[in-house]
Amino acid sequence: MSFKSLGLSDSLLHAINKKGYDKPSPIQEKAIPFILDRKDVLASAQTGTGKTAGFVLPILQILSETRQPKRRPIRSLILTPTRELAAQIYANVKEYSEFLPINSMVIFGGVNQNPQIRELRNGVDVLVATPGRLLDLHGQGKLFLNQVEVLVLDEADRMLDMGFLRDIKRILPLLPPKRQNLLFSATFSKEIKMLAGTFMFEPELVEATPENTAVEKIIQKVYRVDKGRKPALVIKLVKEGDWRQVLIFTRTKHGANRLSQKLEKSGITSAAIHSNKSQGARTKALAGFKKGEIRVLVATDIAARGLDIPLLPHVINFELPNVPEDYVHRIGRTGRAGASGEAISLVGADEADLVRGIEKLLKEKLPSEEIEGFEPKDEPQPAKEAPRRNQNNRNRSGSRPKSGNSGGGNQRSGGGSKGGGNPGNKPGSGGGNRKFKPRRRR
Ligand code: AMP
Repeated sequence: MSFKSLGLSDSLLHAINKKGYDKPSPIQEKAIPFILDRKDVLASAQTGTGKTAGFVLPILQILSETRQPKRRPIRSLILTPTRELAAQIYANVKEYSEFLPINSMVIFGGVNQNPQIRELRNGVDVLVATPGRLLDLHGQGKLFLNQVEVLVLDEADRMLDMGFLRDIKRILPLLPPKRQNLLFSATFSKEIKMLAGTFMFEPELVEATPENTAVEKIIQKVYRVDKGRKPALVIKLVKEGDWRQVLIFTRTKHGANRLSQKLEKSGITSAAIHSNKSQGARTKALAGFKKGEIRVLVATDIAARGLDIPLLPHVINFELPNVPEDYVHRIGRTGRAGASGEAISLVGADEADLVRGIEKLLKEKLPSEEIEGFEPKDEPQPAKEAPRRNQNNRNRSGSRPKSGNSGGGNQRSGGGSKGGGNPGNKPGSGGGNRKFKPRRRR
């Protein structure tokens, strides 16, 4: 299958060629024909699968094929949960539309609204937005959504997790009833299906898992260590391993700041990235990290969502997440694009339950070891019910993870990366398409 055989125009093929993509990814192969056919699409895919091009390319084709209204109203609205993801999608829209007469822009909160208002006045075909700022500017009469032809809800599950359901419900009535709806989500939870049922019309269901090549290259390790000694262990690992690009996850914003300060004090360049940081600070930190000026980026889960950092060699879980699925998402930050990566979890005595929850989800045991000089002394905690969010023991992509333990030494991830590979599948394969027809309720 080639991009050309998907029926994309020469201008888009030119842009794709410039990006260096050889062939469509599974999600692109499945979603693009439905979208070009003007169908509603409910897609299970997450960052790393090529989902963005999966919806942006056909949208650009649709918009450029139909007559451009003179005043350039917003004809496609792409809603995302975070500013970083919005900025990233916008960058993709710009690249893919380079050879098309399409205007696009991005709006999000945390920055001055005036430049956004000025840009909106020039006319925008494709608007990428976070819900809060969108509603804000709409409320001020600075933008209109009554000519939107294609709506995208990206990372819809995360939008719900972040409490955006109310905002989404306020945005939907602002759109014309006759439109095309696309929903992308890492999971098809009951909540997502319910949401889809409220606004989508006979959506085509598309599921795809990321290529397994990258997934299999993630080496997962657990280092047992006392809570209070974790910062020292991080410093040792980064310094002695001469690690140059490390992403560290902490559970809290405060914890991210504290760790980042400790790293800086020890001579390791570092920045913290979380929702209390201004947009400017977040963008600067990410740019510095990508350029190699900042060795360690310390992030909370929400801030890290949607970050596109290619070829990330090291991910450290300073604390394990409360939700096992977030572990899968975190370790998906490494080993991207076929490069190998290492995901290390520093696990204190109080986190034994969290390890069990993750192992249950992955259906494999995480190899655990102690580092000399950092042997834990804290008393292990008695077993409790492991935290569960997903009753079916499925990973984020909805696929069942690999069972069994390859045993000893370094273990290859079977359960996830980029959100859950399906190790049972051949590389590049991704579940099938099924028809899911929720009732139309507008
Ligand atoms: P996404 O899942 O949309 O965040 O995309 C993940 C990464 O894959 C991005 O860096 C894209 O530029 C890249 N990508 C998207 N489509 C393809 C493709 N067909 N071939 C190779 N890389 C791709």
